[in-house]
Amino acid sequence: MKITAAVSVGPNTDFALEEVTLESPRDHEVLVEITGVGLCHTDIAARDGVYGLPYPLVLGHEGSGVVIEVGANVSKVGPGDHVALSFNSCGKCTSCTKGSPAYCLEFVAYNYIGSRPDGSNPLGGFGDAELHGHFFGQSSLATHAMASERNVVKIDKSIPLELVGPLGCGIQTGAGAIMRSMSAPEGSSLLVLGAGPVGLAAVLGAVVQKCSTIIVSEPHAGRRALALELGATHALDPADGPLPEQVRGIIAGGADFAFDTTGNVAVIKAAIESMAVNGMLGLVGVPKDFSVELPINIVATMQAGLTIKGIVEGDSDPDVFIPELLDLYKAGRFAFDKMITTFPLSKINDAVTAQHNGEVTKVVLLNN
Ligand SMILES: [Zn+2]
Ligand SMILES: [Zn+2]
Repeated sequence: MKITAAVSVGPNTDFALEEVTLESPRDHEVLVEITGVGLCHTDIAARDGVYGLPYPLVLGHEGSGVVIEVGANVSKVGPGDHVALSFNSCGKCTSCTKGSPAYCLEFVAYNYIGSRPDGSNPLGGFGDAELHGHFFGQSSLATHAMASERNVVKIDKSIPLELVGPLGCGIQTGAGAIMRSMSAPEGSSLLVLGAGPVGLAAVLGAVVQKCSTIIVSEPHAGRRALALELGATHALDPADGPLPEQVRGIIAGGADFAFDTTGNVAVIKAAIESMAVNGMLGLVGVPKDFSVELPINIVATMQAGLTIKGIVEGDSDPDVFIPELLDLYKAGRFAFDKMITTFPLSKINDAVTAQHNGEVTKVVLLNN
């Protein structure tokens, strides 16, 4: 079939909206007409070559939409079902079989190589060039995407379908980090570094967990205001002074949990100095240079009994966690929609600029 896709043609180059082709689903695949797709920092990093993916390439990994066709072996969903698309996983490795698909041993092959794990691609029709995709098992910056049975989650039809795509990556990452990876208990204190969509989702998760003190550190005034609206108890401007002093001015003993979305070594070091004894630091921010290392004082880490935890996708099992988040949303306890601004897919490049400049927090691109 013919579809329209936002094609990445090279680093630091605008997306090009092009008519291309998409095959019919294979046995375990699910063809989805995309209603909305979130724009995640990972898409822009991938467009700009950070993951070393081949061009031309279709990105997009926070899609939602309506199933229009399924492969012969698919039983989980059928035509007409509303679905959110999430990351893909193999379903067979030790992580997947333990219910931890975010740590799938085949995660890269299923999400980050620009094709299906076997090297083939359902996309085509882009001149003579091989068109790469299957990004996070979807490539949903398009009118249609080929997902797999494992990475579609059926959504209740009462929920605004166009908004649920970000639950499949950025929102489940932030909320899951607090609710699942670190399981912050009621009454605990949390420091969130960065109030982009992932940090704000962490704030929402911390409110669900009934954390008593939720401190956000964020340079952008508009995002600090949104953090407070979503339930942060304090929003700090890093320009107002050293972070440990600011945090200890609020809680003298330091924060029980810290969550970094920046990937910035100086910020992470300041966060460690802001933490309480027996605190836990969660890391999801990805540095531009994958070889960056974190210098940690061994003795101070021991003496403070700190735990440093790497986190992928908030330890989510999307089939379990996305419905849980949507139940909270319906109960008025998880207002993730407050951070979303919609743009038509045709305005994707304007949306990238607006998100980059901080004019909007989380973009969802609509197909209408
Ligand atoms: Zn696996
Ligand atoms: Zn993402």
